[in-house]
Amino acid sequence: MSATLLSGKDASAAVLQSLESDIASLDPKLVVVQVGEDPASSSYIKQKFKSCQSVGMRSEHKHMPATTTLDELMHEIVALNADPDVSGFIVQLPLPAHLEKHVPDIIKSIEPRKDVDGFGAYNLGKMFLNKDFEDLPPATPSGIILLLDHYNIDVAGKHVVVVGRSNIVGKPVSMMLLNRSATVTICHSKTKDLGTITRQADILIAAVGRPKMITADMVKDGVVVIDVGMNRTDDGLCGDVDFDAVAEKASAITPVPGGVGPMTVASLIRNCVRAAQRQE
Ligand code: NAP
Repeated sequence: MSATLLSGKDASAAVLQSLESDIASLDPKLVVVQVGEDPASSSYIKQKFKSCQSVGMRSEHKHMPATTTLDELMHEIVALNADPDVSGFIVQLPLPAHLEKHVPDIIKSIEPRKDVDGFGAYNLGKMFLNKDFEDLPPATPSGIILLLDHYNIDVAGKHVVVVGRSNIVGKPVSMMLLNRSATVTICHSKTKDLGTITRQADILIAAVGRPKMITADMVKDGVVVIDVGMNRTDDGLCGDVDFDAVAEKASAITPVPGGVGPMTVASLIRNCVRAAQRQE
C-alpha cells in the first residue's frame, strides 16, 4: 500500500492533548444519556468515557432502562439542562423503537449551550453561517475537519465528493467543507451513476453505512479517502470503502476502525470544553 494512513488515533491524541490545560482549569463535565442496551452504543460510550478519563475530564453515564417513556426521558433532559455542574450532554442514538419517532423533539429539548453533539437546529444553523460561527459543530463532521487539518490536507479549491446526506454526517460535513472553500458535491441513494461522480473527487468522504460499497474502480489515482462507515459484519467491523483495493490508488486513506471514530470522540470532548468556556 502506498497511501498515507490517516490515523484518527494519532490525530485525536494531538487534539486531546491540546485541550488538557483548559480541562484542568475549567473542570468540565460530560453526561451521556443512554436508553436501553444497544451493543454498538455501549461500545461507543465506553470509548467516550475512556477518552474523557485519559484527559482528566469528568463524565457520567445516565443509563436508563429500555422501557423509559418519553416523559421520563424529557424529565431527565430538563434536569440536565438546569444542572449548573453539567457542561454538556448527549442523548446516545439510536433510541429504542418507541422513542425513535420523537428524536427531533428530544434533540430540540436540549439546551443549545449544552448540545455538545451539535445536532440541534441552533448549533447547526450557526454552522451554516460561516466558519467563525462553528461553536458547537456536529461531532463527526468536525472530527473529519480536525483530521484533515492534522495531516495538513488543504481543502480550498478541491473537489470534495460526499456520499451520504444525513443530518449528522453528510449534510453538515458538506457545509463545513464549503465554509473552507472546497467545491462540494453531495451524493445519496437517488444519485445516478455514482461512480462517474466519485471518480472526479480529489477528496472522497463515504458516509453511507454499506460495507465496502466504494470500490477501486470508483476512485481516481491520488484521491484522499475518508471512510466514515462503521459496519458490523460477520467478518468484523468494516467501513464503506473497500480499503485494501482503494488504498492501492489513494494518496491517503483512513482505516476503520481507528480513523474517523476517535476523531468524533475528540471533537465531542472539544465541544464540551467550549460549552464550559461559554458557561463561565
Ligand atoms: P444514514 O442516516 O443512514 O444515512 C446514509 C446516507 O447514505 C443517506 O443519505 C442515504 O441516501 C445514503 N445512501 C444509502 N445508500 C446509498 C447508495 N447506494 N448510494 C449512495 N448513497 C446512499 O447514516 P449516517 O448516520 O450518516 O451514518 C453513515 C455511516 O457512518 C454508518 O455506517 C454509521 O455507522 C457511520 N457513522 C460513523 C461515525 C463515526 O464516528 N465513525 C459517526 C456517525 C456515523 P438517502 O438520503 O437518499 O436515503
